[in-house]
Amino acid sequence: MAKITKEVIDVIYKEISTLFPEAHCELNYDSDLHLLMAIMLSAQTTDASVNRVTPALFAQYRTTSDLAHGKLEDIESIIKYLGLYKNKARNLKAMGLMILNIYDGKIPKTQEELESLPGVGRKTANVFLSEWHKIPRIAVDTHVKRVSHRLGLALESDSPEKVEAKLMKLFPEEIWIELHHKLIFFGRYFCKAKKPECKKCPLLPICKKPIL
Ligand code: SF4
Repeated sequence: MAKITKEVIDVIYKEISTLFPEAHCELNYDSDLHLLMAIMLSAQTTDASVNRVTPALFAQYRTTSDLAHGKLEDIESIIKYLGLYKNKARNLKAMGLMILNIYDGKIPKTQEELESLPGVGRKTANVFLSEWHKIPRIAVDTHVKRVSHRLGLALESDSPEKVEAKLMKLFPEEIWIELHHKLIFFGRYFCKAKKPECKKCPLLPICKKPIL
């Protein structure tokens, strides 16, 4: 992979910031537990779909105790419109139980503790830490991975962990949280998987994979 200069990094950040100055987490939540639940539900589905089921879910499960003692079938029936809902329901209940029993009902704060929870992997922990605690993290989802590859910041074959490490090395830590949101918006609304807006793209001159 060719060396990426600071100028290129600056141009990428400047242009995606101009396109998406207000990029932010699009999941709705009103507490740390509900944020964690929403992130867990968002695996392989859109934030908009998650937001459609969470009002009913959050109303019924306000605490980890509610979740831990909830009936699996009840959780399933609320989230049944989402892919992998059976798995997700099982993980939500198990997550509630573990937090109740091991962490005194409070969401743990470290990456390691978060990743020990059922259904919580590195990406989920990263999103939670950066969104709730404002701890600099770059969570790599399908959009961040695709955009990083197209812009020559990572290889297509790189694992999400490798893409994350490369991005953290290339961009200064103080912009990681913003960068994460802007890359997601750029991938979700502009550099889309199937029909990217290459003809209008300000990053066309440096893009490695334009589709024209
Ligand atoms: S030129 Fe196309 S593929 Fe490249 S970054 Fe822009 S929208 Fe994405």
